[in-house]
Amino acid sequence: MNSPAPDLYQQLEKLKEEYVSSLLPQYLFINQVWESRKIKSKNHEVLNRLLFDFHKLAGSGATFGFIKITDTSRALETLCHDILKEDSLISDIKIKEISNLLISLKKVIVECTATIEKTLPANNMTLLHDADEISTETGVSVYVLDNKKSIETNIITKLNCFGYHIVLFLTIDDMLTAINTTPPNIVILDHEFLSKKTVSRITTLQDSKRFKTILLSPNNDLSSRLEAVRMGFTDFLVKPFDVFSLVEKLDLHISAKDDMRYRILIVDDSEELSRFYSITLQQHGMQTRIVNNPMLLTQTLNEFQPELILMDLYMPNCTGIELATIIRQQPSYISIPIVFLSSETNVDVQLQAMSVGGDDFLTKPIDPLYLYSSVSNRAQRHRYLRSFMVRDSLTGLYNHTRVKELLEQELERAKRRKTSLVFVMIDIDCFKAVNDTYGHPTGDKVIKNLARLLQLNLRKTDVIGRYGGEEFAVILMDTDIENAVRTIKKISALQGKMIHQSEGREFKVTISCGISCYPNFNDTYTICNEADKALYYAKKSGKNSIVSNINGKFLVN
Ligand code: GH3
Ligand code: MG
Ligand code: MG
Repeated sequence: MNSPAPDLYQQLEKLKEEYVSSLLPQYLFINQVWESRKIKSKNHEVLNRLLFDFHKLAGSGATFGFIKITDTSRALETLCHDILKEDSLISDIKIKEISNLLISLKKVIVECTATIEKTLPANNMTLLHDADEISTETGVSVYVLDNKKSIETNIITKLNCFGYHIVLFLTIDDMLTAINTTPPNIVILDHEFLSKKTVSRITTLQDSKRFKTILLSPNNDLSSRLEAVRMGFTDFLVKPFDVFSLVEKLDLHISAKDDMRYRILIVDDSEELSRFYSITLQQHGMQTRIVNNPMLLTQTLNEFQPELILMDLYMPNCTGIELATIIRQQPSYISIPIVFLSSETNVDVQLQAMSVGGDDFLTKPIDPLYLYSSVSNRAQRHRYLRSFMVRDSLTGLYNHTRVKELLEQELERAKRRKTSLVFVMIDIDCFKAVNDTYGHPTGDKVIKNLARLLQLNLRKTDVIGRYGGEEFAVILMDTDIENAVRTIKKISALQGKMIHQSEGREFKVTISCGISCYPNFNDTYTICNEADKALYYAKKSGKNSIVSNINGKFLVN
C-alpha cells in the first residue's frame, strides 16, 4: 500500500509558496487604494473593500504559519471598522495609524517571503503516515484461533457463505506469524482457552496492523466484559451464539471500516485557504470537495452528498448565512452539519450564523489539528444519527424514504449522463405462512437472509433497500434490463435453494420480482408504479417469477 502522506506534504509546501507569492501583489493593491485620495474623503465602498481584504489576510496568515500577518491585518481591519462607524471624516491620527500599520504589513510580508525558502511545513502541521490508507481489497478476512475446536465447523462454513473468508489457526504462534505478514480484518479469540498474556500478544498488535478483535466468552456479566475491554478487545460475543449474531458483529466492524472516509464540502471563496483545509482534512483520511464560487453550490451538494459543510462567512455574490438558509430549506439537507469558519469575531454575527442552522462556529486562523477534530467529531455524529434516519433497523438496508430519495438522485444523474437505470421490486412469496408456521422471529431471519443475499450479489454502487415488511427495492445503475434480469435471476435461484431452519424443521422460500427501467419510464413515480404492476403480474401468474415491464407490456423471464 502506498502512503499518500509525502505527496500531501509536497502539496502543502507548494500551497504555502503560492500563498506567500500572492501576498505582495495583494499588498500593492491595498496600498494603491489607500494612497488614492478617495479613501481620505471616506469613500464607503473603498473602505469596505479594504476591510474585506484585511479580513481575508487576517483569516489566512496564521493558517499558513504567519501569525504576524494575521495580527497586523486584524489591527487594520479593526481600524477600518471604527472609521466606517464614525460619522466624521477620517482623522489625521487614524490616517497615521493606518499608514504605519501598512508599513508594518509590508515588512511582515517581505519577511515571510524570505523565510519561505528555508521553512519546512506550516507550523503545527502534523503529517500522518498511513492514516488515510484505505484497504481496496473487497474480501474480508477473519482469523480464528481454534486450538480447542471451540467453534462449530458449520458456523465457519456459513460465514464463508456470508462473504467472510475464515482462516483457522491451531497455535497462537502460527496466527502471530500470519498477522505480521498478512494482517486480517478481524481476529476472533476464545479467552477460555488462552492465558491473558497470550491474548495480549495479539491485542497489542491491533492498532499497528489495523484489525479488530472479538472475544468469545461464556459469561455475559459486566466484570467479564470489563476484563475484555481492559485486555484491549474491540468487541465481545457471548457463547453459545448463532451464525446470525456473529455475522451481525462482523458486519458492524466491517461497514465502519469500509465507509470511514467522511465526505466534507468546503465552501470558501479563497482558493488557497480552501485547498489548505482540503489537504489538512485529506491527511486525516477524509474525502473533500471545494466550492470557490458559492453560486455553484447546488450541483456539488447533490453529486457529492457531503456529510458536513465547512462554510466561509463572507464571499462575493452571497454570504455563508444566506447559503446555509437555502441549504436548510431543502428537506434532504435539513440534518447536514454546517460549520462556519470565518475570521468574524463579532459574537452577534456568529449567533446569527448559528440561528439559521449553523452547528458550530470556528474562527480563522485555525489550528489544523483543531479543525480536523471539530470536523471529524461532527461528521461522525452525523453519520451515526443519520444511520437511524435512513437505515432499516432489522436489515441495515436503506429504508423506504431513503430509497425514494436515492431513486430521485440516481435518475437525475442517469439523465445527465445519458445512461440507464433499472428499478426492481422484490417480494417474498407466501411470507405470512412462514410467520404463521414458524413464528415471527424465524420470519425476521428470512428477511435478514434475503437482505444479505442481495448485498452479496449486487455491486457496491447499487442501492438496496427494504421497501416494506417483506418487500425490497433495488436500483441498479448503468445497466440495461437484460443484464438486470440476469442478476436478479441468479439471486432468485440462490434464494430458492437456501434451506432455512426453525426448531429442527427445514423449509424454503421463493421470491417474486417486478422490474422497470429508465429511459423506458421517465419519472420516479412512474418507475415505481410500473415495477409494482410487474410485481403484481408476477404474483398473479403463480409467484416465484421475474416480470419486466417494457412500455406497459409484461414479460415473464
Ligand atoms: P404474497 O406471496 O402474495 O406476497 O403473500 P405474503 O403472505 O407474502 O404477503 P402478505 O402481504 O399477505 O403478508 C406479508 C406478511 O409479512 C404480513 C406481515 O405480518 C409480515 N411482515 C411484515 N413485516 C415483517 C417483519 O418485519 N418481520 C416478520 N417476521 N414479518 C413481517
Ligand atoms: Mg409477500
Ligand atoms: Mg408484500
